[in-house]
Amino acid sequence: MIHDCAIVGAGPAGRAAALYLSRAGRTAALIDRASFPRRKACGEGILPAGVAVLRDLGVYGEAAALGRPFLGVSYTTRDGRRAAGRFPEGPGLAMPREDLDHLLLRRAAAARGVTVLERNGAVAVEREREVLRVRLENGDVAARRLIVADGLSSPTLRSLGVGRRAPLRRRYGLAARLTGVEGLGSFVEIFMLDGGELYLTPLPGTGRASAALLLEGSALAGAARGREAAFWRLARSHPALAPRLGRAILADPIIGLGPLASEAERCEDGAWIAAGDAAGAVDPLVGDGVGLALRGGRLAAEETDAALAGAGIPGRYTRDRLRLLRPKRRLASLALAMSRRPLLARAAVSALGACPSAFSALLAG
Ligand SMILES: Cc1cc2nc3c(=O)[nH]c(=O)nc-3n(C[C@H](O)[C@H](O)[C@H](O)COP(=O)(O)OP(=O)(O)OC[C@H]3O[C@@H](n4cnc5c(N)ncnc54)[C@H](O)[C@@H]3O)c2cc1C
Repeated sequence: MIHDCAIVGAGPAGRAAALYLSRAGRTAALIDRASFPRRKACGEGILPAGVAVLRDLGVYGEAAALGRPFLGVSYTTRDGRRAAGRFPEGPGLAMPREDLDHLLLRRAAAARGVTVLERNGAVAVEREREVLRVRLENGDVAARRLIVADGLSSPTLRSLGVGRRAPLRRRYGLAARLTGVEGLGSFVEIFMLDGGELYLTPLPGTGRASAALLLEGSALAGAARGREAAFWRLARSHPALAPRLGRAILADPIIGLGPLASEAERCEDGAWIAAGDAAGAVDPLVGDGVGLALRGGRLAAEETDAALAGAGIPGRYTRDRLRLLRPKRRLASLALAMSRRPLLARAAVSALGACPSAFSALLAG
């Protein structure tokens, strides 16, 4: 069988692409080397623009039943200054990644024209006239088009000869799930540390939160026990956070990832398009990787559908994707500048604290 499209990677980008292709009446093979549900290093908050895609896909009701809404984001400096901004478009949604991934994968598996292949990694892509053949660990898949959505390290783009641009600052992340955290409310809270930050996303249930620690340097990528000690030491180094963690314990092992942001040299070329983190990831500090992946998956599906109909325009996807990313990159640069310079952070947090509407405007989109 020749599918209209093969999608390598069944994260949020790949699943959204599969669901939108199905909606357009196309057939797709959605391929992942992992077996779901499985944990993924993530702060587990979906910002409002991502929530809008869940609504559009008709999965919001089910997602909301598994999640906890949050109204905005707050920053707290080490000397106790705090600024909170509400999302102008309505709440975001926090939920364990296993639940989000499982929900979207089930929908994709039930969608007309979509074939899901789990536990079967892609190892190479070959072109045979008008058909692409994706070689898998077990068997292969033939398709007219390809969407590459296999995440930050994208082995598939590498196998296609596409390099990656490393970010100027190499940052690494640790993701932890905690129980027993005190004082959780309806905001994602970002605590500024020396040279990094910890953000705390309230999950459903009393005292449950997802904590993502983002820092420069590879120290965090060490052995499991070293990570745990480093996590608690850094989390408790923030004077406003430490007292709230007195009774907190890890609900799951800590997982790490890094470097956190990189960009593919190209995100489209002839018969393939790259989406989500594979195409390029913004530092998770802006907390919108899932939303960008969902929206990027939709864009990739639209361009693929157009190309299959003979109406594709080379370069259009790249332009549209950059338009999507631009405001997030701007926000990431500002937040990263703050993360390096405590004096700037204090001034910016004081200014944003005094003007919540300006903070809200920064969070738009
Ligand atoms: C510490 C940390 C905290 C974060 N916090 C947040 C947050 O709070 N909110 C938010 O929105 N985003 C957050 N992010 C970012 C978010 O997790 C990612 O941007 C998002 O998962 C990207 O989705 P994706 O579909 O592009 O890739 P992924 O979710 O990485 O999915 C890629 C898939 O491809 C599969 N794959 C890889 N190689 C192959 C292969 N060869 N063959 C087949 N399949 C393959 C993988 O198994 C995986 O399932 C965070 C990231 C980190 C590291």
